[in-house]
Amino acid sequence: MSITILPSDVAAKIAAGEVVERPSSVVKELVENAIDAGAGSIRVEIKGGGAQLIRVTDDGCGIPSAEVPLAVERYATSKISSVDDLARVSTLGFRGEALASIGAVSEMTLISRQRQEKAARYVTVHNGRMVEEGWRGAPTGTTVVVKGLFRDFPARRKFLRSISTEAAQVSQVVCQYALAFPEIRFSLISEDRYVFQSPGTGCLREVMGVLYGPEVEQALRAVEMADDNPTAIALDGFVSDPGTHRATRAYLSFFVNRRWVRNRALSFALEEAYHGLLPEGRHPIAAIHLRLPPEEVDVNVHPAKLEIRFLHESAVYSTLQRSVRQALLEGISVSALLAQPVPVLDPFQSDTGAQSLPLESHASSTMTPPSTSYLGKLPAVIAGHSSSLRVLGQLGNTFIVAEGPDGMYLVDQHRAHERVLFEQMQAERRGGGIARQVLLEPEVIELKPGHRELAESMAPLLADLGFLVEPFGERSLLVREVPAALAGGGATATLQSIFDELAERADNAATGDVEWHERVLASLACRGAIKSGQALTQLEMHELVTRLERCSVRSLCPHAEPVMVHLSENAIRRQFGREQG
Ligand code: ADP
Ligand code: MG
Repeated sequence: MSITILPSDVAAKIAAGEVVERPSSVVKELVENAIDAGAGSIRVEIKGGGAQLIRVTDDGCGIPSAEVPLAVERYATSKISSVDDLARVSTLGFRGEALASIGAVSEMTLISRQRQEKAARYVTVHNGRMVEEGWRGAPTGTTVVVKGLFRDFPARRKFLRSISTEAAQVSQVVCQYALAFPEIRFSLISEDRYVFQSPGTGCLREVMGVLYGPEVEQALRAVEMADDNPTAIALDGFVSDPGTHRATRAYLSFFVNRRWVRNRALSFALEEAYHGLLPEGRHPIAAIHLRLPPEEVDVNVHPAKLEIRFLHESAVYSTLQRSVRQALLEGISVSALLAQPVPVLDPFQSDTGAQSLPLESHASSTMTPPSTSYLGKLPAVIAGHSSSLRVLGQLGNTFIVAEGPDGMYLVDQHRAHERVLFEQMQAERRGGGIARQVLLEPEVIELKPGHRELAESMAPLLADLGFLVEPFGERSLLVREVPAALAGGGATATLQSIFDELAERADNAATGDVEWHERVLASLACRGAIKSGQALTQLEMHELVTRLERCSVRSLCPHAEPVMVHLSENAIRRQFGREQG
């Protein structure tokens, strides 16, 4: 398509907004244009964090010489021409306003040459006015040079941060495109020094290796889901194994149909797959490409196109979560077992419906003294009580292997403990209040601006949850007592996330309601529970299973994830071809 000015009805339908906010947003627009032009190599150079100079050079198709002056006009685009096109944009840029907006606040030169032309055509625009145009020698492709961004616009210049901050943002943007397009070789040069260069071989793992280092590359697990499922959602990419993690979510990247998107729910879904596998406050590393039919995605939400909407959100999130979880569990090598959709039975449910005896009392009734070993000494079935689990051992420091009334049970140690702590705190809260523990050394929480009043007004609610806090200076809180269940650690981090969550909600009206309490208790339980990957003694496993048995709900953790997987004796026999006739 040749470049034309969009009719005003089309222009009006596109989310309006300033695309040029800072150097990184300029780089983003220019890189997208280069990708749309089919470039195999894109070089980004900046000086002064990009405020002084940005130069983006590509080896793409170039712009027909006659259209070069048109390209810098507002709503000039070769990518869409009607409202209908909007519904299925597959190119990255489509508003036809980037070059015009950049040229309006800088001195911008666009130089472009198509293969068949002898020379490149260029135009220079200064603060929105075309000041020069002509021909010059240049290789095939396009170069855009942006000098003195916002130099004559003090009101906008003052929003620029330090050179290093702006440079870091540019780097972030170029990194994301390198991850989104592994087949394109990206180079980033800042202050005449190479920041990185992606190999351009098409291998995402290699790009992650360049950006995050060889150790991360070693620790990556492939995630994959073909689109032959009913939702038609396909995805692939890499995630770090649970042993490799970072302090922030900055290492999580998502691409929807090759478009880098920021979507908190996607990060959340991915991190849910690591539930119980990572130390608290740590985050995985991931780059995931999702592919959906274009009509399932609304990309026209945000002017900078970073935010998108999914038509079928929950299908997207659950597909992501399931495939990541599967990739992670493969390493624990019980994936084959877990992948089988086994109904989760509650082995503790006795036929009579009566509360079954705790395991300890069985132990004391056996011939073998418990002190020798619990392993293999507890009879699974004692007359009249067919409702107990006999712990056989631990698998991958993550699952408790047990024998139950009908076959084998794998109990997720983290989720089981979560359930136990959750119900324990619920019970304590109903009768007199959640048991507290005084911290030997009070811990300090830094509050974000505005959280101080929130914290004070929350004190009674926090007390009800087992926290004793007091103001400490202008921006911090002293935590003196925490719920006893969390005495082992994690209390402060939980409190921090409670504040963050509250601050995000416009109204705190819902904070007193049952659902909110349940959610907070669930996250307290999660932080306080033993982690996956932790070795447990027989005694500890026995204790945990016994306490789980006393819970009112045993088959699901507070987040409604299965606590155990059951393999019936029949299923096991079948595996061995020993069907009973
Ligand atoms: P949009 O990308 O939304 O169409 P832009 O203002 O970014 O609008 O660019 C205007 C037009 O200029 C594009 O539609 C495209 O035809 C052309 N163009 C811009 N940059 C390049 C490039 N690097 N290579 C080839 N063509 C380009
Ligand atoms: Mg564009």
